[in-house]
Amino acid sequence: MGFFDKIKNLFARTPEQLIEVLNRGLYPCANCKQETRLDQLVPLSFGNCPKCNDLFLVPHLMEDWWVIEPLGAGGMGAMVLRRQVGAHLGAGGAQ
Ligand SMILES: [Zn+2]
Repeated sequence: MGFFDKIKNLFARTPEQLIEVLNRGLYPCANCKQETRLDQLVPLSFGNCPKCNDLFLVPHLMEDWWVIEPLGAGGMGAMVLRRQVGAHLGAGGAQ
């Protein structure tokens, strides 16, 4: 699955659904929907879905934002998508 297909799949879920799953300590695979427990993974490292082996960024709760997906990286650091726990969407930089 291509990177942009993964992003499209991510947005196919409503923010409320995604945040609800994340707040239960689970990450829903963007490819096969398998839910993986976050407490066994290192935040902001890459993990593999146990079912379909799809690569994903392990989400991390920073204050009231979920960092959920890398958009790209360059000289200024890495761009990540983040969602506020209250389900607003924003993009921000992270070093
Ligand atoms: Zn999967």
